[in-house]
Amino acid sequence: MDEKELICSSCSKRMTNKEGVAVFMCPNCGKAQIVRCKHCREIAAMYTCQECGFTGPN
Ligand SMILES: [Zn+2]
Ligand SMILES: [Zn+2]
Repeated sequence: MDEKELICSSCSKRMTNKEGVAVFMCPNCGKAQIVRCKHCREIAAMYTCQECGFTGPN
C-alpha cells in the first residue's frame, strides 16, 4: 500500500512498521534522505549519507 518504501540508513532494513522511524534530510548536504528505524535510534547507530558520505548519530 505504501507508495515508497523506507530503508533504514543504518541497518538497511525495510521499514514495515513506521512507528518510531525518523526521516530527515542529510544535515551536511541536504540532498539525501536519511532514514533511521526505532532500533537504530535507540542504540545510536551510525548512519552514512549516500550523497556526501557524512556520518553521524543525529
Ligand atoms: Zn535501523
Ligand atoms: Zn549528505
